[in-house]
Amino acid sequence: TNALLVSGLSKSYGNVVALDDVSLRIAADRYVSLLGPSGSGKTTLLRVIAGFEEPDAGQVVVAGRPMDRVPAHRRGIGFVFQNFALFPHLSVKENIGFGLVNREEAPLAPRLADARVRDMIALVGLTGLESRRIDQISGGQRQRVALARTLVTEPKLVLLDEPLGALDANLRARMRSELRAIRERLGITFLHVTGSETEALAMGDTVVVLDRGRIAQVGDAASVYDRP
Ligand code: ADP
Ligand code: ADP
Repeated sequence: TNALLVSGLSKSYGNVVALDDVSLRIAADRYVSLLGPSGSGKTTLLRVIAGFEEPDAGQVVVAGRPMDRVPAHRRGIGFVFQNFALFPHLSVKENIGFGLVNREEAPLAPRLADARVRDMIALVGLTGLESRRIDQISGGQRQRVALARTLVTEPKLVLLDEPLGALDANLRARMRSELRAIRERLGITFLHVTGSETEALAMGDTVVVLDRGRIAQVGDAASVYDRP
């Protein structure tokens, strides 16, 4: 089955065309890099898939379900923002558990939520920092909290908008291999937006290149690299 099927998506802001008839099919458990210059429509595509924006035309189907009538918070899609969007006054543990305990639908019992949060903290390498506040940890550690907070809700599809953009080169390289390891363990489909060709090729099994709101290329990392 396809984890994600996007057909004929278009979206304009006034007379700026952000997406122009974009169609895309992503198989389950793939790691897909979405590459393109600034302004090519990457963030808009993620936001439409996530349900934060209405498209002018086209359809998004996730795991066989058309998303038109599914409210954004029930879509089973995780989103990791460029700027992390964490609660600075809460601890690492509270940030990661927040969505599990406070969600409308089927909030977890505290004991169950605690256990899941503990496992996730170990998975992303934050053990020992559980009680630190977000404003008392480093940028790389914040990135792990943001990732853990999304993964702990067990989404099938995770959308990452320049998740490593705020990190220095060393941390970025480390987070890349950690993301790959997490993906292998959890069997999640990732769609990862980046403006960096290096990052797109290092991370993705598949690279999708967006240019002026249209899909310019789709292929495995090697084939995209070979073309001019
Ligand atoms: P990127 O780093 O991917 O280029 P931007 O910083 O351009 O992203 O955009 C960040 C956010 O601002 C996105 O949610 C996008 O929808 C919104 N945005 C981008 N361009 C504009 C614009 N011209 N007017 C209003 N909002 C915009
Ligand atoms: P990217 O993420 O590749 O940088 P975006 O999806 O942020 O591209 O933007 C695509 C185009 O749409 C750009 O020209 C941007 O200025 C415009 N745009 C994005 N969001 C908005 C918005 N909320 N209002 C107006 N224009 C926007």
